[in-house]
Amino acid sequence: MSIVVPNYISEIDPYQGGKPIKEVAREIGIPEDKIIKLASNENPMGISPIAMKAINDSLREIDRYPDGNNYYLKEALSNKFKISPKQFIIGNGSNDILELAARTFVTKGDQVLFSEHAFAVYKLVCQAIGGQGVEAPSENYSHNLDAFLSLISDKTKLIFIANPNNPTGTLIKKKILKEFLDNVPENIVVVLDEAYDEYLDDSLKSETFGWLNSYKNLIVSKSFSKAYGLAGLRIGYGVSSIELIELMNRVRQPFNVNHLAQIAATASLSDKDFIEESRCINKSGMKQLTDTFKMLNLEFIPSHGNFVSFKLEDEKTAMMYYHHLLNNGIIVRPIANYDLPEFLRVSIGLEHQNNAFIKYLSNCNI
Ligand SMILES: *Cc1c(COP(=O)(O)O)cnc(C)c1O
Repeated sequence: MSIVVPNYISEIDPYQGGKPIKEVAREIGIPEDKIIKLASNENPMGISPIAMKAINDSLREIDRYPDGNNYYLKEALSNKFKISPKQFIIGNGSNDILELAARTFVTKGDQVLFSEHAFAVYKLVCQAIGGQGVEAPSENYSHNLDAFLSLISDKTKLIFIANPNNPTGTLIKKKILKEFLDNVPENIVVVLDEAYDEYLDDSLKSETFGWLNSYKNLIVSKSFSKAYGLAGLRIGYGVSSIELIELMNRVRQPFNVNHLAQIAATASLSDKDFIEESRCINKSGMKQLTDTFKMLNLEFIPSHGNFVSFKLEDEKTAMMYYHHLLNNGIIVRPIANYDLPEFLRVSIGLEHQNNAFIKYLSNCNI
């Protein structure tokens, strides 16, 4: 082929998502309604009825371009969190925010720092612009922030931290995170990805919005894909200093967030009960699964998210379990691409979904 692309593009390993239900139905021949997807950390409760009504009421409006400024969503976020609307940027999923951060603050040859076993998108958005990804070794599957500090160089422009992290579910203590931010030079942008914050107990919940005045180089990113259940609409947001938000807005596509996503996200912010119930169901489902792992003597990484990664003997055994579950209509996620080949990650489902997972996990005869 005569099309030549830079090596940093041809060397990218594409992102591997959870297998879609329709694909499994097609490939394995199981009816869609018999398939249980526990592979992408979606909310098994679906979406808030308030958001669903708002979407239905707005369907007629989709012949118009969306509001490129996301005015009403920013107002709603501003009221909820007592932060200026100018400090928010809305993205086509929070992945859009992660990518915007890379495209705004990193140029070719710059270094981007993230952890071993951290969310795959950090490496991808860095590679796509010719940045150099630098992976800090983890400690007990968790971010080791001292390792981060020791890897900072003149070339470091951006740091990604997932808290809680996916696929390990580990959480960094607030005090440790704050000490870390104190030690990061001000000319390096730090993105704290808090896609799973809604699932944390009150005492563990992030307080980073309150830190924004002290750290002008901090961007906090949030998602509507997980607890809010809007994964298919693609919407998330970033919060930072007005200065950084204005820079990212120059790079952002003018209509990056669709109309229904804006409507649904704005409506769902008002439904506290839905988020609370999602958190409770997640908590009991997490216990259901971790109790099972203990009973079966399977090691797992204690998780603060709506998923948990558990360990089999080796990669071959992990893939045998994966296929056994898949052939019985249960989709989980292999995470070899996170350098965790002996592990599988399962999202917490509703009780009967977890029971089905447990049934086929228990009867996999190796
Ligand atoms: C799922 C996930 C996201 C969310 O991505 P969206 O683009 O908002 O769907 C972000 N960060 C982490 C760590 C995740 O696991």
